[in-house]
Amino acid sequence: MIQNAYVGLGSNLGDRAGYLLLAVRGMLDAGLDVIRLSSIYETEPVEYENQPVFLNMVAELRGSTLPSPEQMLARLLRIEYRLGRTRDIHMGPRTIDLDLLIFKDQQLESEFLTVPHPRIALRRFVLVPLNELVPSLLHPVLRKPISELLTQTKDRSTVRRWAAG
Ligand code: ADP
Ligand code: MG
Repeated sequence: MIQNAYVGLGSNLGDRAGYLLLAVRGMLDAGLDVIRLSSIYETEPVEYENQPVFLNMVAELRGSTLPSPEQMLARLLRIEYRLGRTRDIHMGPRTIDLDLLIFKDQQLESEFLTVPHPRIALRRFVLVPLNELVPSLLHPVLRKPISELLTQTKDRSTVRRWAAG
């Protein structure tokens, strides 16, 4: 049984690390109880490749105090908006991207929200930081641990720990 929720953070415009930290602040200010953060990783863009490199990380949120998944997404989108996120190019550069990856054991699919996030297993930039936090967590749909999804993914993109400098 998964108790908590996991949010993927990404930025590839401007002060990338600053945006990650402001987004964590934003989650705390919005009453989302962030309890653990992965390392920050520098990652090569996938899917839409002609754009700057990203910084990515994953946050773990305490499940016992969370609102509904829809409420939670609304709060995440509000944080994106406040941090200057615009949606000019689909999958294009952004100051901040906040994705609800996993919400306890819940599975849901609506026009606005799919949980677990449908592309977890296809993205090393999500799997590597998630594996750092919870390697043995069983993906609620795929029924495999994150560590196994990481070794089995077809994504070959570069993900390396980032050091400020
Ligand atoms: P992406 O993160 O795939 O590059 P966007 O962030 O531009 O794309 O798309 C966000 C939209 O995707 C949101 O408006 C939201 O309604 C929808 N969405 C569906 N499922 C999720 C999820 N699990 N987490 C975040 N957004 C989601
Ligand atoms: Mg998003």
